[in-house]
Amino acid sequence: MKLANVDGRAVLLTAEDKGADVETASGGRFGPGPASVYEDWAEFRAWAGAAVIEPDVAFTRAQLGPPSPTPRQIVGIGLNYDAHAAEAGFDVPEGLPPTFAKFVSALAGPDVEVVLPAGGNVDWEVELVAVVGRTAHRVTGAEAWDHVAGLTVGQDLSERVSQLAGPAPQFSLGKSFPNFAPVGPWLVTPDELPDRDDLALGCAIDGETVQAGRTRELIFPVARLVSALSRTITLYPGDLVFTGTPSGVGMGRTPKRFLRPGERLVSRIEGIGEIRQTFTAGPED
Ligand code: ZN
Repeated sequence: MKLANVDGRAVLLTAEDKGADVETASGGRFGPGPASVYEDWAEFRAWAGAAVIEPDVAFTRAQLGPPSPTPRQIVGIGLNYDAHAAEAGFDVPEGLPPTFAKFVSALAGPDVEVVLPAGGNVDWEVELVAVVGRTAHRVTGAEAWDHVAGLTVGQDLSERVSQLAGPAPQFSLGKSFPNFAPVGPWLVTPDELPDRDDLALGCAIDGETVQAGRTRELIFPVARLVSALSRTITLYPGDLVFTGTPSGVGMGRTPKRFLRPGERLVSRIEGIGEIRQTFTAGPED
């Protein structure tokens, strides 16, 4: 099942540009927005699995918002692929990888324009994003997938100057400028994927591939990550977990490379789809 946010309404997709409005199709039982659907995820899945879905909505990509528009929390994970930890100059973590917040004001839909902060170095990080479908606290690895509604594509855009400045790194701030958490184009339930733990992911700048990896290379795959996070925090329906990026980011290159005004970044994950950002120069401070 693929679930999209079309102009703020939950839509079950029957194609990449059409689907069924959830509130209409369910006679008002679910919806109208996607956020309420995650609160009732088990009931919604049972209904959607049995319902006859007739498309009644046609849309364009410009109408797509983030599949979960009002998460209580957006959790970010660093150094969760060996080769990326190496290029970033860090040891591979032994326990739970570094965990930070992307503040919800950074959340955006799949295709957005992003303003580059003046004096900053904005880097790309394509990531598999898990959307929580059931409250998770102290869940085991075996239980964890049952707490995930589905998967989507995300960019953990990161401004490296502010991220790494000061006596302790400012991960949460450097990764939370407006539109620094674009996600989409829709949520895909794990059963739709050939292997939910092994998906090709990558991104390209103006057509040049800069990252290409597979999620089977995750040090903490989705289930282990959700379980480990839930030892400390409570994950709520609709929350997003950015699972970490493979190698190929700009700060790991020689010479380093960062996003420039006018460039176009396309990020894609096998079986899910792609998100697209363009970049413009921000005002001087
Ligand atoms: Zn990241």
